[in-house]
Amino acid sequence: MIRTFKADLIITNDGPPLRNGYVDVNSEGVIVSIGEESSSSNITEVSGIITPGFVNSHCHLELSHLKGKVKERTDGMSGFIKGLFAERFSSSDEEMAQAMFLADKEMHDEGIVAVGDISNFDISLPIKQKSSIYYHTFVEVVGQDPSKADDILEKAMLLRDEYIFNTKGSASVVPHAPYSMSRALISAVNKEAFHKSRPVSIHMQESDDEFLFCKDKSGPLSEFFLGLGLNIRVFDNISDACPMLNTLPLLTDCKPLMMVHNTLTTAAQIDIATALHNDLYWCLCPNANNYITGRLPHLCIYNNDELKVTVGTDSLASNHRLSILDELKTIAAAHPEIPFERLIKWATINGAEFLGIDKKFGKIKAGMTPGLVQIDNVNIENLVLNGEGKSKLINWL
Ligand SMILES: [Zn+2]
Repeated sequence: MIRTFKADLIITNDGPPLRNGYVDVNSEGVIVSIGEESSSSNITEVSGIITPGFVNSHCHLELSHLKGKVKERTDGMSGFIKGLFAERFSSSDEEMAQAMFLADKEMHDEGIVAVGDISNFDISLPIKQKSSIYYHTFVEVVGQDPSKADDILEKAMLLRDEYIFNTKGSASVVPHAPYSMSRALISAVNKEAFHKSRPVSIHMQESDDEFLFCKDKSGPLSEFFLGLGLNIRVFDNISDACPMLNTLPLLTDCKPLMMVHNTLTTAAQIDIATALHNDLYWCLCPNANNYITGRLPHLCIYNNDELKVTVGTDSLASNHRLSILDELKTIAAAHPEIPFERLIKWATINGAEFLGIDKKFGKIKAGMTPGLVQIDNVNIENLVLNGEGKSKLINWL
């Protein structure tokens, strides 16, 4: 059976937005046709606008049980990590599973159809097996001691294969961040990416603490690592250059490569980075930045079509909800000059391209299965996102 949805505006990412448009969908969710008319007798009017399903490019599903447990804006990045460590293993397996189940459902209902999800363990595997969301799992490696790099990578490759063989989605091994990895481990991930482990993401330039530690092993992160009993003397990814420009030359085979957070990244650094690496994505997670440090990235830098920008929610340890629309509202409130259509592109097709799933997701186009999202409370004439607006996945069955 074919269902037809009509809306005042449909953003397709495949040509200009369609005013008073119709989209026909079959029972498998495949777009049958889209245009200014429909011969269907089974038409449902949708208030607001229709967009392709959202792609959440950065999440940590396995931290969902930490919702509300790590205090907001406490001593910057190192304070957040301290809080995270204190609570991370405080819940039972059942509590963690239930929290992940609810987080997955929340994302689905809000209109998220695909997720790039960081995992350190296999606890999210059963949720991903059953979910109707497409998951690409980023198996994340951490380790400051260069002598342990090979062992860490080997374990991560086994976990990656477990996700590949046991879920419908895909998986790759990825580095955590410049401050938590030896150069040997970063290079090992790069070598693995060259063979088969792509796409790749890395947390990047999220806080002042990261800059201090990567410059001369000083600052609050240094104290935190020492408190954990780590031997930071062996940590070698240090330089006067910023963490991104110091680390990027080790990641040239990671293509595509997504920088996550970019809170302190400047336009000049981005110019150099794009000269060093020709397949970069920039992931914005503004609500997590607000939660952890209270500081947003320089969002105006990204308001162009040259940079490939994506949007992520990060985890419920550092966010109140896993809602891509809430992330877009925060960006739009801080920078109303960023066009609404561009925000939708960041939240849909760019993430789909990064994850390599843009033949199915990211565009409302015949033959694709992007999922359809209804966003209400949008000023259709000026395309302004209203703070009260809500998004939801349209049920085509
Ligand atoms: Zn993260």
